[in-house]
Amino acid sequence: MQQALQLLEQFRALIYDTHEPSLPTTVEPAWEAYKQALHTLFQIRHLALALCKGDLSYEIKEKGALAGALKALQANLRHITWQTQQVAQGDFTQRVEFMGEFSNAFNEMVCQLDRMAQELQTQQDELIRRNDNLILEVAERERAEAAEREQRQLAEALQAAAMALNATLNYEEVLDIILERVGDLIAYDSAVIMEVEGMRAYVRRAKNYYRYGEEIEKRVLESWFDIPQTPNLFTMFTTLKPLVIADVDQYAGWDRRKTGNPVRSWIGAPIYAHGQILAFFSLDKLEPNYYQEQHAHKLEMFANHAALAMVNARLFQEIQRLAVTDTLTGLYNRRYFFERACQEFTRSCRYHHPLTLIMCDLDHFKSVNDTYGHPAGDLVLQTISHLVLETVRKSDLVARFGGEEIILLLPETAPQYGESLAERLRQKIAATLIPVNNHSIAITASFGVCGAYPLDCRLEPRRAIEIMIELADQALYQAKQSGRNRVCLLLPDFTDKDASLESEMTA
Ligand code: GH3
Ligand code: MG
Ligand code: MG
Repeated sequence: MQQALQLLEQFRALIYDTHEPSLPTTVEPAWEAYKQALHTLFQIRHLALALCKGDLSYEIKEKGALAGALKALQANLRHITWQTQQVAQGDFTQRVEFMGEFSNAFNEMVCQLDRMAQELQTQQDELIRRNDNLILEVAERERAEAAEREQRQLAEALQAAAMALNATLNYEEVLDIILERVGDLIAYDSAVIMEVEGMRAYVRRAKNYYRYGEEIEKRVLESWFDIPQTPNLFTMFTTLKPLVIADVDQYAGWDRRKTGNPVRSWIGAPIYAHGQILAFFSLDKLEPNYYQEQHAHKLEMFANHAALAMVNARLFQEIQRLAVTDTLTGLYNRRYFFERACQEFTRSCRYHHPLTLIMCDLDHFKSVNDTYGHPAGDLVLQTISHLVLETVRKSDLVARFGGEEIILLLPETAPQYGESLAERLRQKIAATLIPVNNHSIAITASFGVCGAYPLDCRLEPRRAIEIMIELADQALYQAKQSGRNRVCLLLPDFTDKDASLESEMTA
């Protein structure tokens, strides 16, 4: 009885008390089953308390309805815990099928989470898309701004170059400016301008070649290229387009032997107007792969300005040449003769040099016209003019004075030397047969020579020249009177004849 009461008390304590009761260790055999039940209840109590605290790790071996139910609950909680972890990792397919209302709530929550996650994903995708678009837009705008900036700089540089080019009509200056200004647009280590004449390109200006050595610089400045034999030039010649050679070592048509310079990257452009190539740009860089297509674009734009400046300067030069040239003979005209003769007189005075003037008139020229016709006469005039030009020095001034009269001014030449030049000319003309149609025309000329040394420098230059022309004319008249085909010399009053002779000895 005592044993039964003790066991009952322990059952009660196990069920109600919060502190852990002590269990019987030994009981009488009749009570053994109750002792077992007490132990089972003890384990169930532990499991229940552990579950209550959320500890799912407590294991019991007891069987029976209570222990089984608690173990099932523990297993379910473990499974739900695992499922929750799966959900936490993004697996929204997890569903609880075994916990009644809790299952519904859990499943509803997972569905809700799934929807929210999907929504978040959609929003995130949209944000990423917008962000990508923004990045693209910013990059595009930056590119556009850079392009605009570059375009503006190019326009400014071109305008500055055009202004510099427009500032002169001197052809030689134009070439200098072109080579100088192209460097403002496109960097180069060395560069040349080649002028095109027929099918050849001649180097006219070269820059910075000294850095490859004196020998190379000299060779470059003297070089010319046969265009059809020079692939890069020929390509530009036929396409009228710039050409970029990123690396000349990879370009089959590059001939290093020609100039021997160590360039690696090259760009060229034709300078052309009205479809006609005037010149080529040739720019070098020592590093390979420097020049690219954008350089070609710039060079092409600049070449257009350069072409315009070259054409204008050439036109101006041509107009100037025409203004001083006689169209039939190509000699200077009378107006220009006077202008230059006055300058020469002043110069001769300043340096105390002699000055001689020759007047040449073809003999019986009228009869050439009458016999062979006017065009034949023209041809004779042209031939004689050419012959005179060939014979005199570069510094001598030769002009057509009138119909078939040629006038020569010989600076730094004493009268006697002028006389002997006239004699040489006379002999040459007399020895020349001019073929016209089926005939050979022989012609002679008479010469009047007037020279002075020292000059009368008190005279006004124009007046001095007029006096010399008058005297030469008189000498010419004498030559005509004494039978033509001869040379007569007259010295002005102011000439010291001895000094004149002396000057001739030293001429
Ligand atoms: P002289 O020996 O006295 O100088 O005789 P000339 O016949 O040369 O002299 P004249 O002055 O009488 O004749 C010059 C001729 O030159 C007259 C003119 O028809 C001719 N003449 C002048 N200019 C030209 C020209 O541009 N072309 C041609 N074909 N003839 C010209
Ligand atoms: Mg004559
Ligand atoms: Mg005459």
